[in-house]
Amino acid sequence: MAGFDVCVSGSGAVAMSLALALSADGWKVAWARSPESTKPPATPDVRTYALNARAIQLLERLRVWPALKAHSAPVMEMDVRGDEGGTLSFSAWQQCVRELAWIVDAAELERLLGEALRFAPRVEVVPPVGEHGAPVEAALLAICEGKHSSTRSALGVSFARQEYGHWGVAARLKATQAHHGVARQWFRSPDILALLPFNQPDPLASYGLVWSVPQARAEHLLALSPAEFERELQDAILQSDPTAPAKVGELSLTSPVAAWPLALAQASRWTGPGWVLLGDAAHQVHPLAGQGLNLGLADVDTLVAVLKQARADEPWRAPGDERTLRRYARQREWPTKAMAGLTDGLLYLFADQRVPMKDLRNAGMSLVQRLGPVKSWLIGKALDA
Ligand SMILES: Cc1cc2nc3c(=O)[nH]c(=O)nc-3n(C[C@H](O)[C@H](O)[C@H](O)COP(=O)(O)OP(=O)(O)OC[C@H]3O[C@@H](n4cnc5c(N)ncnc54)[C@H](O)[C@@H]3O)c2cc1C
Repeated sequence: MAGFDVCVSGSGAVAMSLALALSADGWKVAWARSPESTKPPATPDVRTYALNARAIQLLERLRVWPALKAHSAPVMEMDVRGDEGGTLSFSAWQQCVRELAWIVDAAELERLLGEALRFAPRVEVVPPVGEHGAPVEAALLAICEGKHSSTRSALGVSFARQEYGHWGVAARLKATQAHHGVARQWFRSPDILALLPFNQPDPLASYGLVWSVPQARAEHLLALSPAEFERELQDAILQSDPTAPAKVGELSLTSPVAAWPLALAQASRWTGPGWVLLGDAAHQVHPLAGQGLNLGLADVDTLVAVLKQARADEPWRAPGDERTLRRYARQREWPTKAMAGLTDGLLYLFADQRVPMKDLRNAGMSLVQRLGPVKSWLIGKALDA
């Protein structure tokens, strides 16, 4: 198969979802994945992702959701606590939705997307994009290479990166009490700790942990034995919220502990003649709101819709036509900047240790809790990145 419509460069969930979605729409796709991505990872990806309704709808259309659902748990309620008594809670029934989000197994998501691509029509695996551009002739190069994208750099696109100096520590846990579908998050400067209800190994009492801490503390946590890590985690939860241990029970590790450096970043341009950026190659956000992949999958959904519409309305335009691609960028840049601004703002608000700020942010949380429409608006944004 030569003369491709789109060359998709990247090996993660965004690249694979895009290749699958384009193939389902009848485009001829070259998938330039890295050879390493076909080998079993040296360490398992222990992350669980919170995916919103829009992301799940896309995975349903790509036919990976029925199998992924077996490795996922719905979030029925969210309980968010500040550091001076501020509380904010959301529930699916209050929002009139079936669930607020799904917590999915990150490794299983990538495995199932890769499996689906093996049977996708019109998709050919090609060598990775090199210094001299795409390895094949394609009207559009879709760059989904993650935050360290070399193709983005080769195009001269800058990626202004602001390191938080914090790492996201992740692991899987089992609890002695059922989670009842409640996701819990504690903002306790400098930590942000989240327990995401999950269904494995225990269908009713497992969690995915995301614990954002300063780098030195992350290095300390990574060096602990499982028993020491569990003790520090329990202590941190107890200090954040004395009522939590009674609700959560004892926590024990069911996976290794891993950590990722956290940063905020935006590409200076998202499109150019014959190329487009998607996912973490275009933007990186702090995982405190669980939105990075949601934004990337919304990029996929939008680009696929824009290309389909352009093919119907202006069939003479190639998929790499910059005017078409700019429509995609216009639809995606604002929601992404808004989400990045929101998570960044929250982070700085909770990093400030001065007493008036502490009081203000906790009072603010409790105020949002009482203002139904504001709360609904906020959760609506998170449900539909
Ligand atoms: C601790 C933590 C928790 C998170 N939790 C959530 C969450 O709850 N919800 C959520 O939505 N998001 C979450 N995220 C964010 C999410 O992990 C990322 O947004 C998502 O993985 C980005 O996907 P991607 O495919 O764009 O990039 P990546 O996952 O980085 O994939 C890009 C892939 O392309 C490969 N690649 C690079 N260059 C090339 C090349 N030239 N050719 C071929 N392949 C190449 C890379 O090696 C990589 O495998 C979390 C992140 C962290 C760190």
